[in-house]
Amino acid sequence: MAYVYDDTNIFARILRGEIPNQTVLETVHTLAFRDIRPQAPHHVLVIPKGPYVTLDHFAEAATEAEIVDFTRAVAKVCQMLGVQPGNGGNGFRAITNAGDDGVQEVPHYHLHILAGRDLGRMLQ
Ligand code: 5GP
Repeated sequence: MAYVYDDTNIFARILRGEIPNQTVLETVHTLAFRDIRPQAPHHVLVIPKGPYVTLDHFAEAATEAEIVDFTRAVAKVCQMLGVQPGNGGNGFRAITNAGDDGVQEVPHYHLHILAGRDLGRMLQ
């Protein structure tokens, strides 16, 4: 079944400017802003501006320009937070939840960037 994007979701509303957000970075195709319920000292959500539901949807349906812009925005956010392990930072974790088993709350693709503390081992 093809993805159906619901444009009433909270991130679509943020993108339309209907709900305020703490923007970290905005580019042509991407917005990065602070999570409202931070799970770490740094908790930034990076989202494409286009109507994509999950990572696989984005990877399949987005243009190359959108994918490159998004990926570079992730790097820029990590640089701005000072967490790039290759650049003197202490590192970060990037997570995306998809669908029911992934326990995705907001049906607009987003990457969580978590940093600023030891995040523990996730996979054993
Ligand atoms: P998910 O479970 O879908 O991967 O994560 C959704 C994230 O969006 C959660 O971490 C939640 O705290 C965050 N969130 C939900 N509503 C808002 C909002 O209105 N503003 C911001 N900045 N974050 C939100």
